[in-house]
Amino acid sequence: MELNELTCHELHEKLVKKEISPLDIVKAVEKQISASEKDIHAYITVFDDMEQQAALLDVRRSTSDDPLYGIPIAIKDNMCMKGRKTTAGSKILHNFIPPYNAFVIEKLKNAGAIFTGKANMDEFAFGSSTESSHFGPTKNPRKKGYVPGGSSGGSAAAVASCEAIVSLGSDTGGSIRQPASLCGVVGMKPTYGRVSRYGLIAFGSSLDQIGPFSRDVTDCAILLNAISGYDPKDSTSVDKPVPDHKKALSGSVKGMKLGIPKEYFIEGIDVEVRQAVEKAIKALEKLGARRVDISLPHTEYAVATYYIVATAEASSNLERYDGVKYGHRKEGENLIDMYKKTRADGFGKEAKRRIMLGTYVLSAGYYDAYYLKANKVRTLIRQDFEKAFGKADVILTPTSPTPAFRIGEKTSDPLQMYLSDIFTISANLAGIPGISVPCGTTKDGLPVGLQILGKYFAEEDILRAAFAYEQNK
Ligand code: GLN
Repeated sequence: MELNELTCHELHEKLVKKEISPLDIVKAVEKQISASEKDIHAYITVFDDMEQQAALLDVRRSTSDDPLYGIPIAIKDNMCMKGRKTTAGSKILHNFIPPYNAFVIEKLKNAGAIFTGKANMDEFAFGSSTESSHFGPTKNPRKKGYVPGGSSGGSAAAVASCEAIVSLGSDTGGSIRQPASLCGVVGMKPTYGRVSRYGLIAFGSSLDQIGPFSRDVTDCAILLNAISGYDPKDSTSVDKPVPDHKKALSGSVKGMKLGIPKEYFIEGIDVEVRQAVEKAIKALEKLGARRVDISLPHTEYAVATYYIVATAEASSNLERYDGVKYGHRKEGENLIDMYKKTRADGFGKEAKRRIMLGTYVLSAGYYDAYYLKANKVRTLIRQDFEKAFGKADVILTPTSPTPAFRIGEKTSDPLQMYLSDIFTISANLAGIPGISVPCGTTKDGLPVGLQILGKYFAEEDILRAAFAYEQNK
């Protein structure tokens, strides 16, 4: 096995024993990037100073206890990195170079991680296939001609193709879990407030969370440990001690109550996806977990609610891109004309659609009927989960109703694309954590993901269940 195919914890062991150096790992990753990037296009920017980053580390400390020391990591291109182009997949930010680091970047830097580059994504994280990136689509490394999912498709593909060891994505309605599922890797959305959003280019501020992608559950716990924690610079960051999530990986789920929501196993979900998830539930039952039937009655309103709340917040967050302060500018005859030309030229089709939808639902006269109503339904969705977690420790569902679809298959039908997230968006509306863990492949060789949802700040529970399943599937 090449070094770039190993996990963080495997590489860490070799580093500690001094069998390898960070530079060896970087060279293996660089080789893989040169070999497969032209087919996959996981990155918007590949850093050309990876070897310097490694060399600096080698000088700084010979060995380190830090599990991310010397580990190459890809970052979704909506997280600000000082001095590095950060585009959010949009033309309007094609030339934006942030003067500061996001909170998570500082954390990783201090941990001794090596940054491989900025991963491709749907424009401003609007999408489920990474086809709306201004820089062109990412391809699914598991099967030619298929999408990697989205919006963090580049981050998922980089890890699946071993062009990075781990990566970071962001999840507003499923953008970590859905691409993880479609690419056959592990992806987690932490509880809202667990990871600071400082330096994350905002989409839906009340929904966005940064989280890890990895090739196994152990690496997911390691990366979560590294990026979690209180940050006074994010007013929604929660000041709560961070446990060592690795300790949750005991392998035991004896007595754990697995909630199975009847609303998630309905007509319309792919037969092979359903079978794979049923099989995974049985595997956990065999390990001593107990299945309990639960109901999340407001599930059918989740997609509609999400597309009101998310577009409302997005339209407001995107107001700042006006050609004045930073990013793309198209000159005009006067200030207003310059705004119009800049925004018309700088935003892609999906961004414009969302700005219009969001502005509409927030406008006087429609606010009560749409935005206010959606927020009331959001409360009902949250209460559904609170009730369900009275009976269950975790909730199991498919991550996505279908495996990966073909490139181009859904681009002309936004509603079909929006339905890709039908099983993931409720967790964002409620703020609870969720993980997607690979649970087999279809006859065509497309990966399927099992989604495990947990109570607020109970990332340990979902990691425990995911790890036990991974070890015994
Ligand atoms: N696919 C969903 C959307 O388009 C979710 C995206 C995300 O989580 N960033 O809004």
